Amino acid sequence: MKELTSSELILRTKTLVTQERRITLALIEHLAEISRRMLYAELGYSSLWDFATRELGLSEGAAQRRIQAMRLVRDVPEAAAALESGSLSLSNAAKVQSFRQAEKKMGRKPDPRELVTQVANLSQRECEKTLFEISPEALPRESDRILSATEVHELKIVISSKLHEKLQLLKGFLAHSNPDASYGELLEYLATEALLRLEKQKGIQTRMPSTPATAAAAVKNPPKIIPPGRRGYLPVTLRKQVWAKSDGRCEFTVDGRRCSSRYRLEVDHIKSLAISGSNEVTNLRVLCWHHNQQQALEKLGRRRDSFKKPAAESL
Ligand SMILES: [Zn+2]
Repeated sequence: MKELTSSELILRTKTLVTQERRITLALIEHLAEISRRMLYAELGYSSLWDFATRELGLSEGAAQRRIQAMRLVRDVPEAAAALESGSLSLSNAAKVQSFRQAEKKMGRKPDPRELVTQVANLSQRECEKTLFEISPEALPRESDRILSATEVHELKIVISSKLHEKLQLLKGFLAHSNPDASYGELLEYLATEALLRLEKQKGIQTRMPSTPATAAAAVKNPPKIIPPGRRGYLPVTLRKQVWAKSDGRCEFTVDGRRCSSRYRLEVDHIKSLAISGSNEVTNLRVLCWHHNQQQALEKLGRRRDSFKKPAAESL
């Protein structure tokens, strides 16, 4: 390289940048196909991001940007050309996609094509500013960092004034037992209440850290009888057994690698009831949403068009 003239060096570097953008776009297209086939799930990963970080060795941020850009390209095919030409950077594409997701949560649907045009050729900071001007609430910054060795977290969140009002109201109600509760204490109360209610509803134990009322005390639902005609319905005792067996984590295992995700867990019939599988514990397992979908997809021979949500019980 030392033999190159300065202009040759610059020219070669520019060519490499162009090639890098092309390769990034090709990588995004490959990720899209892996996602479509749910190959990551077949290989035992709990999500495309999990696959990208652990199998491909991408850093967490790099994986997140590529996956977000992939989703944007899926919805706005023109974004691919913008990424290739360099008018849309990978990080800005990811920002636009995150912005759209935040807007969607608030019931709004900004035109993605327009957004791509608006952030063309902008720096990261300019892009953030532009999106902030369109919708300040859509760029809430959340952070969660461990503060000490005893795992005290600092949680920074942005909330609406309505939620703030609700928290103040709750604070007032709780004041007789806990005068002037901190936000941390309010969250502790809300999380415990919600988890206890979920445990009761679903007949499971979430293994939450010790709380005032034990999880077991809340689970007093008598086992339900399977109503005729509802083949997928599982009695609470059976669900508890399956849950205990799985340790509350996805049981999908391939090449000795277990998924172990806790994301949207469902009880799955290993041999489906339609082909005379039973409701025995040995025929039941816990799968995360991705693996439940992937398994159903596999059974259907990847005919995505005719794909229907499998008859599983959510946990
Ligand atoms: Zn899984």
